[in-house]
Amino acid sequence: MKLVVGEKTDKGRVRDGNEDARLIIPRMELYAVADGMGGHQAGEVASQTAIEALRAAVDSGTSIRDAITQANEAVLERSAADERLRGMGTTMTAATLAAGGTLLIGHVGDSRAYLMREGELRQVTEDHSLVEEMVRGGELTPEQAEVHPQRSVITRALGIEPGVEVDMYPIELEEGDRVLLCSDGLTGMVRTEEIAAILQREPDPQRAANTLVDAANKAGGEDNITVVILDVVADGSPAVAAPPDVETDTAERPTALPKRRRRPRWGRIGRVLLWVLPVVLVLALGFTAVGWYARRTYFVDIDRARVTVFKGVPDGLLGWDPTLEERTTIKVADLTEAERNDIEGGKRFSSREKADAFVDRLDQKIEDREAAATTTTTTTTTTVPPPPPPPA
Ligand code: MN
Repeated sequence: MKLVVGEKTDKGRVRDGNEDARLIIPRMELYAVADGMGGHQAGEVASQTAIEALRAAVDSGTSIRDAITQANEAVLERSAADERLRGMGTTMTAATLAAGGTLLIGHVGDSRAYLMREGELRQVTEDHSLVEEMVRGGELTPEQAEVHPQRSVITRALGIEPGVEVDMYPIELEEGDRVLLCSDGLTGMVRTEEIAAILQREPDPQRAANTLVDAANKAGGEDNITVVILDVVADGSPAVAAPPDVETDTAERPTALPKRRRRPRWGRIGRVLLWVLPVVLVLALGFTAVGWYARRTYFVDIDRARVTVFKGVPDGLLGWDPTLEERTTIKVADLTEAERNDIEGGKRFSSREKADAFVDRLDQKIEDREAAATTTTTTTTTTVPPPPPPPA
């Protein structure tokens, strides 16, 4: 089997520059999308640096996972060397075709990989984003996540800290499969159903890529849009002009129409599912159990100078971060040192009611103290004679 590529990147209709980058190296069967962030030119530098480091690493025989780790180091080094680039980062979703027709996808951030098989589109990668974590925690539905104002906040990226966890997704490719790599400039603007419809009705990968970018722009084009489409065709299918390597240029290029064949191969799909499903189920169950534990408790802590009630455990557990339940009107300045020490770092409760009762008692104590202080002040005032008038 071989891959036929369609790809396009576009700055969209709102942004001044394009901080996305993509990599198309057919001779190495290496394809990637990176979405840089950091303001001014930093985002562009981050995604470009990561893409270059990825290519160099894979070219010298490094595995895709280690190559992404090296890309992380390259972005970190670059931002450490230049004050103006501090804090830049980038996503990375990279795919390479390994022996036996397995596509290895390495992933960090909220750019995505999708697989369309037998006309059905499924998201392969899991976003490292705030809203995705909220969906997993049951706080948002996937539909709410699609329109959430903080949907572009990511929780994992390259260039932020040494040592990055790379998620790996191996896909056993079949003829007729279509893989989509894209930045959030597509998925943030175009609903999944529409992406699927375009991929289904447009057989030519280049035209499909163009149509996806057009759809994102029609919907507002609020972010840079990058799309890479990989069509899996048989080795014997009609000759397709080998596309040139692409790293940064946005030049259009013609692509011949490949013959797409859809041959169901349920035996192979079945075997893959048999392997993958139990593993996914066990991981999901474990994750849910930890999440249930992490989220059934409450704690009271000091946050933004106020006594605040949180759901969860202080500092979170396995990615289950605590969520703010209520910021009370009690200021940290009203607390005694002992009360502050008691709360600071998180005082845990097994239910919301118990946390609320604790806050109520604290509130009452402060009120009592204030009442006592007022009485004292009043008494003092009456016993001290008024000061003599200032000399004229
Ligand atoms: Mn983006």
